Amino acid sequence: MTPCDLAPSYVRAIIPYPPGKPISELAREMGIPEGAIVKLASNENPMGTSPRVLAAIENALMDIARYPDGNGFELKSAIAEKYGVSRNQIVLGNGSNDVLEFAARAFMAPGASAVYAQHAFAVYPLVTQAVGARGIEVPAKDFGHDPKALFEAIEEDTRIVFIANPNNPTGTMLSSEALLNFLEQVPRSVLVVLDEAYYEFLPDSLRPDSVAWLKKFPNLVVMRTFSKAYGLAGLRVGFALAHQDVADMINRVRQPFNVNSLAQAAAVAAMQDEAFLAQCIEVNRTGMAQLTQAFKRLGISYIPSFGNFVSFRIGNATGMYQSLLKQGVIVRPVANYGMPEYLRVSIGLETENARFLQALEAGLQEQK
Ligand code: PMP
Repeated sequence: MTPCDLAPSYVRAIIPYPPGKPISELAREMGIPEGAIVKLASNENPMGTSPRVLAAIENALMDIARYPDGNGFELKSAIAEKYGVSRNQIVLGNGSNDVLEFAARAFMAPGASAVYAQHAFAVYPLVTQAVGARGIEVPAKDFGHDPKALFEAIEEDTRIVFIANPNNPTGTMLSSEALLNFLEQVPRSVLVVLDEAYYEFLPDSLRPDSVAWLKKFPNLVVMRTFSKAYGLAGLRVGFALAHQDVADMINRVRQPFNVNSLAQAAAVAAMQDEAFLAQCIEVNRTGMAQLTQAFKRLGISYIPSFGNFVSFRIGNATGMYQSLLKQGVIVRPVANYGMPEYLRVSIGLETENARFLQALEAGLQEQK
């Protein structure tokens, strides 16, 4: 008997999340210089980080011998002002993944269940399983969330419905009307976690007014991140907005220093640089057009995406993934999302997208 044999069965059954392959790993494995590798595998910001953020980090470096502000006063104040909420409605996380896990820990235990869609972000089943709760996976409709089916799947013991909007890795989104209709129907005792990691990439006309909905739906939790459009993936910072009682409950399972001081300073500065954000969104828009036009030209079908990535159908996805790796291009296999014939590519800079397309065409020739 070992300690591992005695770990809860639901923990032993967890299949770890497979992250995108790091550049350094591919460089080691294939002997390709790091500078020659293009990584379009983790929906990172190809524009990097705002210079204002770098300056803020440099400034905050002086203080790293001290613990961070466990209450995140400056960052919460900036978020509160931008979103028109009060500080006690905010939960800060070491990335929004952290907050997803807090929500699971605060509201679920063995005997509870969570509802989420097929092909939805992989962290929902993971955090559900990690607390011994039951995951109820609802079939997708045209790769997107089916709100009617999600509603009908809610059971007596359901505590959370997770919705990614836009969803990763499909890039699909639900309209404001569909979401509102769903929120009206869901019992107020069931938390609806609306994960808007890719919100900033939506055109204004399609952005749900989700933060305003918090006033009407005390069971709504809106999640955002600084990892994508703001370019802070490596620092790990995200947050949830919710009714103050819900935020309080989630904060109870949070360790006080979960968001480090550099991340807090960086996130405040990132919110102040709206010009950089706008530039990143524009680069994403043109890059998405560059890739989807090429897919059309090559006869490759893809799932129209509202995020900073797009999943495309390639048949022999494993073979193509390997072929791209050999050519120094890292994309993301999505077989673990029940999409074995697809690969997901993140939108890069124009030159990176071109490198990917060139490698893709070479890979298609090989597969012929
Ligand atoms: N939600 C969705 C839908 C995502 O795709 C991601 C990142 N892959 C996250 C949340 C988590 O991002 P982070 O922890 O970096 O904030």
